[in-house]
Formats: sequence, structure tokens, C-alpha cells
Amino acid sequence: MPHSVPDLPAPTHPLERLPEEWSARLAEWGEPRFRGEQVFSWIHQRGVFDPAEMTNLPKRLRARLAEEDELGGLPLEIVRHHRATDRTRKLLVRFGDGLDVETVLIPQLKKADPDVQEDDLESDRADGLRPSAVVTQCISSQVGCAMGCVFCASGVAGLKRHLSAAEIVAQVLLGRAQLGEDERLRNVVFMGMGEPLHNYGAVARALVLLTHDKGLGLSTRRVTVSTSGLVPEIDRLAADFDGKVALAISLHAVTDERRSSIMPVNRKYPLGELVACLKRYPLPKRRRITIEYTLIRGVNDDPADADALVALLRGVPAKVNLIPMNPIHDSDLGAPSGDGVERFRDRIQAGGVTATIRRQRGDDVDAACGQLALYGPDGERAERTRRLPVSK
Ligand code: SAH
Ligand code: SF4
Repeated sequence: MPHSVPDLPAPTHPLERLPEEWSARLAEWGEPRFRGEQVFSWIHQRGVFDPAEMTNLPKRLRARLAEEDELGGLPLEIVRHHRATDRTRKLLVRFGDGLDVETVLIPQLKKADPDVQEDDLESDRADGLRPSAVVTQCISSQVGCAMGCVFCASGVAGLKRHLSAAEIVAQVLLGRAQLGEDERLRNVVFMGMGEPLHNYGAVARALVLLTHDKGLGLSTRRVTVSTSGLVPEIDRLAADFDGKVALAISLHAVTDERRSSIMPVNRKYPLGELVACLKRYPLPKRRRITIEYTLIRGVNDDPADADALVALLRGVPAKVNLIPMNPIHDSDLGAPSGDGVERFRDRIQAGGVTATIRRQRGDDVDAACGQLALYGPDGERAERTRRLPVSK
């Protein structure tokens, strides 16, 4: 059953229309209602944008859709495509106004990643998929980001603009089209550029489209919204999708003072409010909230921080994903040593909380978290330099 979300913003592009919105549009042309679902499925399930190929539609309808350019075309194009030796693919996509974002396709390795949830593994096995056939796509929700986290290239650059639902969904339609015959897109994570919950309406519509059973049909629990912790919007997401959308929280520090110094959003929604909000998130049984913790040397990597993290998460169904900080332009911040990362993980585990280290993928394509670059229309890097006010 598709989700019916109240107050979904009206579609701004034909790619954003749900089956019933296609039906309403085609009813203006005197078409029966079921045509709406057919057109929707051609686009979102089959990835077909040329009406001439929509073979179950009558010829006159195909001709009219083409004549009036009713589908409107994809709102973006791929301008660069890199493939790493581990099959990670990074696409640089460009929108009509010349702005770019990146989206990354990440196949699992031969063995499933350690943080994959057991019921997802089971459902892949039931569908006859080997782990390496399972692909996760990381997508962007904004060009740049307004949240200003000091360790993040998007935050340092600032917000250029929100993406529309069409621009978000088109990343996935284009991404899926890049996959090999033996690969299947099973997971989508909003971990590219931007704060998805700062662009709530477009992201909510994109979620409905991506998980629609007549479209791409992604399992809701395998679409992950990653957020820096916008409490009212997390509550709204919980209500709109009954807690079924997977949630990842960028925590990164265990005291308000430290967190506010690296993530300005913490001044608005401090840790106490954020943790209370996670406790009321109506998570399905057996699922857990992912706590992202970017390890920054000398800032948040003390063993006492690991203990405080365990204490903070008491009562939250959570697993911790540690991300050794990837270096960014114009910042001296960096990751602890490999040993330090493992010690931090072991300390959390010793406290009884599952912790994994995010594996570096696609290094040779520069596709690492927080390094998704900003480029201007002329292809120039458009990062703003800023010195970092990190309290020690
Ligand atoms: N805005 C959302 C989602 C995008 S960022 C959020 O903040 O959750 C996806 C993840 O990458 C977040 O956990 C973010 O904190 C992390 N990240 C950002 N910059 C990073 C860097 N330089 N090194 C490692 N992780 C980084
Ligand atoms: Fe924005 Fe997330 Fe980067 Fe913070 S970490 S600046 S919220 S994209």
C-alpha cells in the first residue's frame, strides 16, 4: 500500500505525479482512470520516458503525450561518471540551472556489510540475491547545506537551494539505469549533499514516490533519511510514515557544548530534546535507529566519549556507525589513527551497544562521506573557505 501523506505539496513536475494525479491529468483528456497508473508504472517501475515505448497505451494517447511533451523529460543529466575498482560509481548530475550534485552507487562486497539488518539479509536471500548484487544509492536532497557542520564540505559551502522531489527521484531513476543486469537497487540513503529534513515537503513526496508499489517499489524500511537532528521534522516524518522510514541521526558528540561547536543545529535542538525525540520514534519491531558518529581526532574520540555515548543512548533502540572523518578542503580536522577508531568501537561494544566502522568505499573516485563536492556551472569548485571554531 502506498503511503498517503497529508499536506503533501502539489507536484511541480510530471515526474512527481502519483498514479491518482496522472489519472486526474489524463481525465482532462477524456482517458479512463486506469491509464494514470499505467503511465506512472512505465516511468517509475520500468524507467521508460518515451511515450512511443509505452506499448499498453492506445496509439492516440502515446502520440498526444509525445506531442504535448507531457512527461517533461528528466530534470537532470549525468555530466561525469566515475567507477572505482570496488564497483562503487559516482555520478555528477547537473540540473537545468547548471548546479550540480553527486549521487553514489555502492554495491555490497561479497559479504554483506556488518551493519546490514538481519531481516534485510533474509529478504535479499529470499529474492535469490547474492550480497554483491545488492546496491545502495546515496542521494542528495539539496545543493549545499544550511546546517554549517564544520567537518562537512556541504556545510562549509552553505545552502545554494533545495532540490525538488523530481530532482531527488530522478537521481534514483538515473542511478538504477546505470546498474548491471546482475545488480539490484535495494537501498536508498539520503546521505549525499544536504539536510533532507530541511527540505521536508520535497523529501516526503520523494519518499512516497520511491516506495510506491506501482513504481520503484523500494521497501520503506530500506530507505534511510539521515538527519543532523531537526526534532519537529523527525516527529513529522514519524507521523507521516508511521515510523517505517529508516532513520539515521548524525550525533557526532555527547555533550551540548561540544556538539554545538561542531554542529550549530545543536543550539536549536540540544541533545536532551533529540534523544527524547528518538525514544518516541515509532520504530517497527527488530529495527534500530542508526547513530552516525564521525570520529574527529582530538575532538570527540576520547574513550570517555564512547562511555558517554553508551549512557546517552540508554533506552534508544540504536546501533552506532562510526565514520572516520574524511579530510575536507580548508580544514585541519581529521580522523584518529586506525587503532584509535577500533578502540573506540570496542569501547562502545563493551558498553552493550552494537557499533560498526563505516568501510571506506570508492576511494579512488573521491566518493567519501562529506566530500561530495560543490561545483559551479563552470565546473569550478565552489567551496567557501572558513576557519573552524572547534572547542577543544
Ligand atoms: N545532512 C544529513 C545527511 C548528509 S551527511 C546529516 O547530516 O545526517 C551524511 C553523513 O556524513 C552524516 O552523518 C555526516 O555527518 C557525515 N559527514 C559529513 N562530513 C563528513 C566528513 N568530512 N567525514 C565523515 N563523515 C562526514
Ligand atoms: Fe549538512 Fe549533514 Fe553536512 Fe551537517 S553533515 S552540513 S547537516 S550535510
